[in-house]
Amino acid sequence: MQIDVDVSGRKVVVFGSPSAARRAVTRFVQSGARVTLVLPGAVPPAEQRQDGVRYASQPAGDDTSALLRLVGPAWSVVVVDVDPAVRDRLVELCGRLRVLVQRESPAPTEGQVVLVGGGPGDPGLLTVEACRALGEADVVFFDRLAPTAALAQLAPGAELVDVGKSPYHHPVTQRSIEELMIARAQAGQSVVRLKGGDPFVFGRGGEELLACLAAGVDVRVVPGVSSALAVPAASGIPVTHRGVSHAVTVISGHVPPRAAELDALVRLGGTIVVLMGIATLEQIVAGLCAAGMDASVPAAVVERGYSPSQRSTFTTVGRLPAEVRRLDLRSPAVVVIGEVVTVATSAPGAIDLEAADPFADVEEAPRR
Ligand code: SAH
Repeated sequence: MQIDVDVSGRKVVVFGSPSAARRAVTRFVQSGARVTLVLPGAVPPAEQRQDGVRYASQPAGDDTSALLRLVGPAWSVVVVDVDPAVRDRLVELCGRLRVLVQRESPAPTEGQVVLVGGGPGDPGLLTVEACRALGEADVVFFDRLAPTAALAQLAPGAELVDVGKSPYHHPVTQRSIEELMIARAQAGQSVVRLKGGDPFVFGRGGEELLACLAAGVDVRVVPGVSSALAVPAASGIPVTHRGVSHAVTVISGHVPPRAAELDALVRLGGTIVVLMGIATLEQIVAGLCAAGMDASVPAAVVERGYSPSQRSTFTTVGRLPAEVRRLDLRSPAVVVIGEVVTVATSAPGAIDLEAADPFADVEEAPRR
């Protein structure tokens, strides 16, 4: 069961220290609630207060009338860290006043960085652990290919910072991203670095991990569903298939592989998956064919996998460059080269590549 409540304009009273209660406070402020933070000690000076939050000092647990004044007309009281006697008094009072009481664990005081793989874009392909890390984040630095659509709901208490990279265009440099993450963690915040796919598959996650370790910042990795394996699947292509291919090699086309590498790939056989390969596909295909790959080997390009505008193009390796130009195939796209492509095209109800139509080898595959 899920209950959605519009809290805009409603009074929410949070009990806890500013540090422990920061997530609850930010989440309710961002949802438009009128938030009062009730502190165990003195109200902080104006320059340390958060915009949109009223502050009050916690009355003694037995001072019922003071507690009543605080929680009286509230919609909800959120208990983060108060001593048990005050908490019990609050629960009793709220019960009588029919005010909703929510309990929430204190936010950690030690900063940390979590490198989270967001999968290929569909929020449904985020892992449970990724959702948990997002739910606990103070700040999320996200990339262009991360699942951004549901971010505000998944990280309701977090500041969301777009450090998005598109091919050959990095608005925030890698070094600055690392510095930003480290600075926030050193200030005590829970930082999520949300990336598309898996952070360690052409995601520069390794560099970010090393940067955090070098700075002495607590860091961990939440793996994600990589587009290298999942995007072919979106179009019905298994990257390995019994009796067809028992090896899969994932390569980056960002810088086209060297002739010796392409030569080794052709000798290895199996499936080749190319990420970031649209711009350099012509060179890659020329290299593969020069190394002895038959131009008739099946190939597919899956653009924008798992999005409503997903498009799959089925062809042969020899025709790939021409099809990229003719159909204006664009990044983000995964290119699959190998006999496994025929598993998708020969499945019952799939496209007939042998049909007489001259463009029969180029079809929009049904979404599966
Ligand atoms: N770490 C990511 C890959 C980053 S490189 C992962 O594990 O998936 C970026 C490339 O990934 C894109 O150029 C494209 O080739 C591929 N890609 C990522 N998401 C994609 C998607 N939804 N559809 C098609 N290709 C995608």
